[in-house]
Amino acid sequence: MEIISDKCIKKFLETAPLYSWNEFKKPNINRSSLWIEEIDSFCQTCNQVRPFQDMRSRGGLIGTELKALSTGTSYFQFSCASCRGNQHEYLVEQIVTDETIKIQKYGERPRKKLERDPFLQDFFDNDSECYEKAVVCISNGYGIAAFAYMRRIIVSVTKSTSIFFASNA
Ligand SMILES: [Zn+2]
Repeated sequence: MEIISDKCIKKFLETAPLYSWNEFKKPNINRSSLWIEEIDSFCQTCNQVRPFQDMRSRGGLIGTELKALSTGTSYFQFSCASCRGNQHEYLVEQIVTDETIKIQKYGERPRKKLERDPFLQDFFDNDSECYEKAVVCISNGYGIAAFAYMRRIIVSVTKSTSIFFASNA
């Protein structure tokens, strides 16, 4: 098991799907919070991946530094380092034991930009709504649910193809 570090938390915030748990080993040094300074994310204003930084004053963190990280929730807020806008927020639940730290992302704003294949989108045409739903399911870690939508697309494509062949026979 990996020891939790700023790097782990950064990767977790950037890529982990909602509601899935990640477990880490507790570090030897006292970590008072999950707070990290920076992540990389897509900025809709700059229209590219940019560093996002926590620009809140550190004042709010003073006094909590001596406390050990405990079970509860953490709130993250980052703004694009270039345009200083486009705020990205994350809600994380943490469960801390003597040896491990388990974290789960239970909120993310804005919604993660989903990967879509433009060729497939074109191909699905009438079934694009099912495709959209399938992509959302996959991105949230519900692969089985996505399967139902993919199946619907296959059935619909098969039907229209057989009608095409029948009318051309
Ligand atoms: Zn920006």
